[in-house]
Amino acid sequence: MRGFKCFPSVLQDVPNPYTIPDLRDEVTLARYPFLPQAKSWIAEMASTHQIDIDELLDGSMMERSRIRARSRLIDSVDSKDGVEVASIGDIHTVEGRLLEAFSFYYARLVVGASEDERLISRWAQAEAERAQHILVKDNAIDTIANTYISQIECDEKGIWKIGLSDFIELCTGITGSRWRLPNCVVKDGWVTLHDEGDKYSSRAKVARLLRERMKEEIKQDALEKMAKMDESLLIRLSEPVGMIRGLVASRTAETIALIGAGEEDWPPCMRKAVSELAEGVNVNHFGRVFLASMSRCIGLPVETTVDFFRPAPDFSEGTTTYQVNHLYEREYTPSGCSKLKVNHNCAVRTGDDRLCDQPWMDHPLKYIRAKQRRRKKQGSMEINVVTPKAGDA
Ligand code: SF4
Repeated sequence: MRGFKCFPSVLQDVPNPYTIPDLRDEVTLARYPFLPQAKSWIAEMASTHQIDIDELLDGSMMERSRIRARSRLIDSVDSKDGVEVASIGDIHTVEGRLLEAFSFYYARLVVGASEDERLISRWAQAEAERAQHILVKDNAIDTIANTYISQIECDEKGIWKIGLSDFIELCTGITGSRWRLPNCVVKDGWVTLHDEGDKYSSRAKVARLLRERMKEEIKQDALEKMAKMDESLLIRLSEPVGMIRGLVASRTAETIALIGAGEEDWPPCMRKAVSELAEGVNVNHFGRVFLASMSRCIGLPVETTVDFFRPAPDFSEGTTTYQVNHLYEREYTPSGCSKLKVNHNCAVRTGDDRLCDQPWMDHPLKYIRAKQRRRKKQGSMEINVVTPKAGDA
């Protein structure tokens, strides 16, 4: 029996393999970019192809990776079966591998920047489900099983058995009587994963158990990224975070304030559109689409958005509700500052608003994010000021 070490996860008492198997096959590393073996490979690729954080966030070489990351994120909210298995690139080419690896990396940054543990869990679950689907047919299952499970073996007939302690820990997160220990064959500290047809073949059961461990590892990695994220990165990622938050809000029908965005956080352009409408001014089409898409991104319900338009001179309940619903369903994201300026929807000139004057300010969602960060900081400073010290009377 091998020795154990603990991975940095909430499963601190769970045994994991002491020695991680060597894995250099680049196709496998690209398919499962969350593997511990993939870390140095991704770092090496970043250095070879000169991919730094600026390239990843805004560069043209990484554009396709960001698009693929977007679909990974959308799938994690939309799809019942996890992230779409098929990539948009050919994983047998360098470009395809770059796409897979860095789309995962970018998506992880975005969920980390959301600072929302529920969203991180949801995404980790979807990525782990994707990996499970691929693993069932992948010869790499043996290496990956030995990466995450301390005691696991497969006989010549393709029947797997797993150490009792691993099984007990992993099966608790899975529903169904076949995963309860009294219904399993246990001998000498091993649980045999019997073949029960396609969906529950021995191999499929290994993949299902692995999903639990992969999910936890993906989640922990994202939480670590979240803890290390600095303010400027959080602000730079506001737009994709807004996109995914808006999607979650529309799917769950909850009023999730995007990032807790109260009226005091709204950017001047959004306030301008709302107050002009309230005064009966005819806001142009671009401004109306902008306002509705901002409302969607900050999680306002359709009814509230429709109410913004109520005082408009040409308001029609039916038409506005139809148009707002359409915009919510199509998941419009708000335009950036440059387009708003061109279309006369920007509300400021240089010197009017210090945040809008920042050189990095190119999107109203960044404004909200920056406002919230500042408020959070001020809040914690105020708490520090009023908290009495130990020993104070
Ligand atoms: S600079 Fe950008 S965020 Fe500020 S008011 Fe203009 S469009 Fe809005």
